[in-house]
Amino acid sequence: MLEATRCGNGASGRNGGFVQASLTHGTGNGLSRFPDELDRLERLGRENFDGLARDVRDLGIDAEFEATGDLVVALEPREVPDLADEAELLGRFGYETELLDAERTRAEVNSPTFLGALWTRTGSALVHPGKLADGLRVAAHRAGVRIHEHSPVRELRDSVSVIADAGVVRARGVLLATSAYSPLVPAIGRYVAPVYDYALVTEPIDRALVGWGRRQGVSDMGNQFHYYRLTADDRILWGGYDAVYRYGGPVGPHLDDHDPTFAKLSQHFFTTFPQLEGVRFSHRWGGAIDTCSRFSVFFGRALGGRVAYALGYTGLGVAASRFGARVALDLLDGRSTEATQLAMVRRRPVPFPPEPLRSAVIQLTRNRLAAADRNDGRRGLWLTALDRLGLGFDS
Ligand SMILES: Cc1cc2nc3c(=O)[nH]c(=O)nc-3n(C[C@H](O)[C@H](O)[C@H](O)COP(=O)(O)OP(=O)(O)OC[C@H]3O[C@@H](n4cnc5c(N)ncnc54)[C@H](O)[C@@H]3O)c2cc1C
Repeated sequence: MLEATRCGNGASGRNGGFVQASLTHGTGNGLSRFPDELDRLERLGRENFDGLARDVRDLGIDAEFEATGDLVVALEPREVPDLADEAELLGRFGYETELLDAERTRAEVNSPTFLGALWTRTGSALVHPGKLADGLRVAAHRAGVRIHEHSPVRELRDSVSVIADAGVVRARGVLLATSAYSPLVPAIGRYVAPVYDYALVTEPIDRALVGWGRRQGVSDMGNQFHYYRLTADDRILWGGYDAVYRYGGPVGPHLDDHDPTFAKLSQHFFTTFPQLEGVRFSHRWGGAIDTCSRFSVFFGRALGGRVAYALGYTGLGVAASRFGARVALDLLDGRSTEATQLAMVRRRPVPFPPEPLRSAVIQLTRNRLAAADRNDGRRGLWLTALDRLGLGFDS
């Protein structure tokens, strides 16, 4: 394994730690894009979710894995009926859910902004992403994987040769899992736009002020949504909302800080939890998300099938990347499995246009999503057109 920096330095070590069974960035997105095979995708997703929990246990990884379930909270009256629709949809695919009114929601997590919630008890957990990445690194090493960190791959050539700074590696096959980073195969660049997501973490809080006894992960229902959770030592991780795309899609440590987003996140945090006024943020960071137009992993092969890739998780890859890696290895080995036959695996997303159109389209879409949040959820012409074409943009 050749890793440009250190294992876990990418999104895997800096995400919100929401572990979700869905392979399709939510059941609703799966239903609109892969209706004919969603039953199978949901089952494979559940097996993968259970498999991840089992791996963590059997490999002895201390990743603070908590089977908490999650709460999706309504902040606007118009969102409350959508919770019931979502409960019905999830129920159809075997999830255990419970609808909570405002009072019961606030009894779970105390915020004056909550008007109701959908509590999904199954297929959703929390993990410490950095500890998970570290634990998997140790387990891979123990299993005999040779790991070369600080070894950026510069180029792939036919035979297959992997050109890294320290020399050339000849390989029978190559699995690329380069996420939002500079693509080593040109096709990847057409489908993936690196979008930055940012998060804050507070100092440990007085839990009596917020309740949160069952420690669920929480997210709201805006197009620009927040996600938040407790850490093992009772800090609150608070992230999301802005999805920052920059012209040309640069990725690098210089973009890990973004003061305007941190200021907005901080303001939204205290609106949600006014009782925590005075609490300070001890950590802040950003990370690149491999956004694609269908919001879920896609696969491909290059160099005569000797290279396979899996990316495009669009901000929901903690569990799904385990599935993606398995499928991509099967593609590389030419093994036909239930998963490799899926339309989701065989079909690619609609590509993004090249620059400068790419920036223009993404910024316009972000702008219209924000406007829809302000205008009672009304999606307007541009978003409706994208919806009809099965296109979109999300972090
Ligand atoms: C702030 C943030 C919050 C998120 N929250 C959640 C969440 O709560 N739940 C969820 O499910 N998902 C979340 N995600 C998404 C999730 O983290 C990713 O989908 C997942 O970690 C992707 O894993 P990966 O292995 O494909 O990519 P990464 O973890 O990004 O790994 C890619 C690796 O490839 C290396 N690399 C790239 N190019 C080269 C090269 N040329 N040579 C050698 N190495 C190279 C990089 O250094 C990096 O280590 C979040 C992402 C971010 C950024």
